[in-house]
Amino acid sequence: MTASSREQAAAEDRACPLTPYRDLFVFGAGGPIYLDGNSLGRQPRGTAGALARVLEEWADDLVQGWDRWAGLSAAVGDRLAPLLGAAGGQVLVCDSTTVNLYKLAAAALEARPGRQVIVGDAHDFPTVRYVLQGLARQPGRRLRLVDAGPTVALGGEELSGVLAGTAAGEVALVCLSGVNYRSGAVADMAGVNDVAHRAGALVLWDLSHAAGAVPLSLDADGADMAVGCGYKYLNGGPGAPSWLYVRAARHAELASPIWGWWGQAGQFDMGPTYQPAPGVGRFLAGTPDVLGLASLDAGIAPLLQAGIPALWHKTRSLVALLAARAEELLGPLGASLASPPDPGPRGGHLAISHPHARAASYLLRQRRLVVADFRPPDVLRLAPVALYTSRVEVWDAVPHIASVLSDPAVRSAPPSSWVT
Ligand SMILES: *Cc1c(COP(=O)(O)O)cnc(C)c1O
Repeated sequence: MTASSREQAAAEDRACPLTPYRDLFVFGAGGPIYLDGNSLGRQPRGTAGALARVLEEWADDLVQGWDRWAGLSAAVGDRLAPLLGAAGGQVLVCDSTTVNLYKLAAAALEARPGRQVIVGDAHDFPTVRYVLQGLARQPGRRLRLVDAGPTVALGGEELSGVLAGTAAGEVALVCLSGVNYRSGAVADMAGVNDVAHRAGALVLWDLSHAAGAVPLSLDADGADMAVGCGYKYLNGGPGAPSWLYVRAARHAELASPIWGWWGQAGQFDMGPTYQPAPGVGRFLAGTPDVLGLASLDAGIAPLLQAGIPALWHKTRSLVALLAARAEELLGPLGASLASPPDPGPRGGHLAISHPHARAASYLLRQRRLVVADFRPPDVLRLAPVALYTSRVEVWDAVPHIASVLSDPAVRSAPPSSWVT
């Protein structure tokens, strides 16, 4: 049901089992409506205490703190695993998303010698495209892009279209995002895994805009590898470490391109030559960021407490309300939906396109009304986050957006004269 009045939205908030979770986060007084939790999640109240505990451990234990800290990448990975639909022993928290993407893509290419084609998505997040472009520079390698348009939810059919243009046994790796960073389109992960595996390729998913927002079942869907951000829906804080997943059955055949001492079997033997650790631990490189790990651990605690089914239920209701309000109030101002038209394959955020989206985003922030992202060329990206965004906030945000879109200052300004 989508609320048709502000009173109804307020009543739904009161009845919603997730409403109390808002109190687990820090809110400034009278701040703007925050619809940007997919860029940087809000700060959980538990984070300050978690960081203070690490500072105490550091002060008291000094180097002996490593007795406890050394296993944190795997321990926090195991705690995160249920949000990914993954059993334990397959997830690590370490490095940045970009670095993890590189490590796993390079590992996949090495594991498929003789295959020279990488398949990516023309509409993917820049770092994914750039990492794949970099890997494709090696002589003989080629990058093929699925180009189904920015709002199409990718599935086996779109991948088959690209595979039809390659020879049998050519594709080593398919690397796509689970939720498109701009449109919010959700890929059919099981369908893609299936088609890729039948072609003999490995699949690597970037789930930065998916983990913590949409239901994931990496184990059941047959995913080989995945990575994702720690600071978006996982609330780990600015620059929080990323996570990586490698299916247990693939551990033995995949090796990190970075032969670091943290991925070494028997790390403290300090032996003469590199021997990869037996499990997912082989994908560690160097010393992990313990403060970042503690912060991410505190960031996922509210998600684990609420559970993905309840979060997903509320997310769908928030996005449906946002879409209905946008159609009613922003459509007449020349805005249109830049997300999948059908709610089925929509993730946790909605994209609205308008020629003055850049100026609108700037004015919304400057007037402290709404925080939303501008994404070139003309998209305003709105992410109501189930843990801490209310239906009333969604209800109220849309007329604010309408107010700036119909403001003569925005209408007369060339979009390029505004900077976000
Ligand atoms: C946000 C995001 C990233 C960020 O990568 P960093 O290495 O943390 O800067 C990567 N991939 C996708 C799809 C993203 O949305």
